[in-house]
Amino acid sequence: MLKTKDILDEKDKRLRQTSKEVKFPLTKKDRDLINTMLEYLRNSQIEELSEKYDLRPGMGMAAIQLGVPKRYFVVVNEIDEGEFEEYVLINPKIISNSMEKIYVEMGEGCLSVNREVEGIVPRFARVTMEAYDMEGRKIHVRGREELAIAFQHELDHLNGIMFTDHIDKNNPYKDKDQMRAI
Ligand code: ZN
Repeated sequence: MLKTKDILDEKDKRLRQTSKEVKFPLTKKDRDLINTMLEYLRNSQIEELSEKYDLRPGMGMAAIQLGVPKRYFVVVNEIDEGEFEEYVLINPKIISNSMEKIYVEMGEGCLSVNREVEGIVPRFARVTMEAYDMEGRKIHVRGREELAIAFQHELDHLNGIMFTDHIDKNNPYKDKDQMRAI
């Protein structure tokens, strides 16, 4: 079982590399890793389990956060109490996005960043992703609001980008009026 300490910290240089395209069929190792990542995210969002195993809560995780430089990530979105939607996106890209931008008012979070970070991370309010599923089938997934942010945040990880990179250090709330807070 994956624990919070297994997740690379933001200071780890490996997070800065560009992950590589995945070839199909997936190896057993990749399949196992994906399932382990999904399990972590699910458990981390169930209070009882997150406390029991001391899991930092998160809704998304990219393979590189576990030191594996491959282009895939998973997102677990709680749609109702104890009810989760799971996404596995392999070799993902954004094929369309809204003009409208949003940001997380409380500040974006990341399983690799163990501190509060103030400031605006501009994200598209809606995105359509093209990716492959675990069987190598092409899929299209639409995300809006929080889910759209999660997709963009995780895609950034595959390109070595941290959410903190998007925040203007001298003016963390720059362009606030041009975006909607969620
Ligand atoms: Zn992250």
